[in-house]
Amino acid sequence: MPEGDTVWRAAHRLDQALAGRRLVVADLRHPRWATVGLTGWTVREVASRGKHLLLRATSDHGPPTTVHSHLGMDGAWWIYGPGQSWRGGQDHQIRAIFGTGELTAVAYRLKELTVVPTADEDTLVGHLGPDLLGPDWDPAEAVRRIAADPDRTIGEALLDQRNLAGIGNLYRAEVLFLRGISPWATVASCGDLRPVVELSARLLSANREKPDQSTTGSTRKDGRSWVYGRGGLPCRRCGTPIQAADLGPALTSRRVYWCPHCQPGPVPATPTSDSPPTPTPRRAPTRPPRH
Ligand SMILES: [Zn+2]
Repeated sequence: MPEGDTVWRAAHRLDQALAGRRLVVADLRHPRWATVGLTGWTVREVASRGKHLLLRATSDHGPPTTVHSHLGMDGAWWIYGPGQSWRGGQDHQIRAIFGTGELTAVAYRLKELTVVPTADEDTLVGHLGPDLLGPDWDPAEAVRRIAADPDRTIGEALLDQRNLAGIGNLYRAEVLFLRGISPWATVASCGDLRPVVELSARLLSANREKPDQSTTGSTRKDGRSWVYGRGGLPCRRCGTPIQAADLGPALTSRRVYWCPHCQPGPVPATPTSDSPPTPTPRRAPTRPPRH
């Protein structure tokens, strides 16, 4: 699932492609918004807010308008130059197309697409906590919001976008590993939360320009995370098998990974350990057939 840094990068690229330019194509493939006519409008900017993407457009023909989108589990924005083939998905997965004549931005598989007057953006994103990558990032406010519910698990609190916006499954698991905190520990038992939220902001910032997220510093495909996606594999620090279980609201990506040795503390009632990946079967040496 795209996390705040992925959405930030998508917004940044869209902003570079579209900001200040007039839309010669604006096609919203959504039953509710298909008739919204933004052709001829000028894109003022494209920005992210947590995991939400906001394309703000202006025109003489109406109040400033925002196209809001959320990538959900596997949505993506692609930007194509003239003559480039569209490779982001099948045609029926396209939800929005914005073209300037030079570049065309195409959104695939969006979870949400909404159009509102820019003045009403808060009806869509006003509930979000401080944005880890936003100009208004406020660690003290994020700590205050998390601490307001001391009996909740820290694993749930970090994923709650009303507390701080931008963290998904990957950073939740990695931040808690790096701080040595069990995802199942209550907020009250975590002590000072400031280092937790500050590390979250640092990890997202460090990755926002990179297509391949890494929290370890390694760029190797199998070396980019400490615990995320590593259920059943040995901890990189102590060798204990990494545990995996669901933590967080249903219908979202909520798999959490942790090392029970490096992150001592409470564990779920029925801990599970994902099986390590099956090693590639080694083919037996070929022997000449016996006759
Ligand atoms: Zn460990």
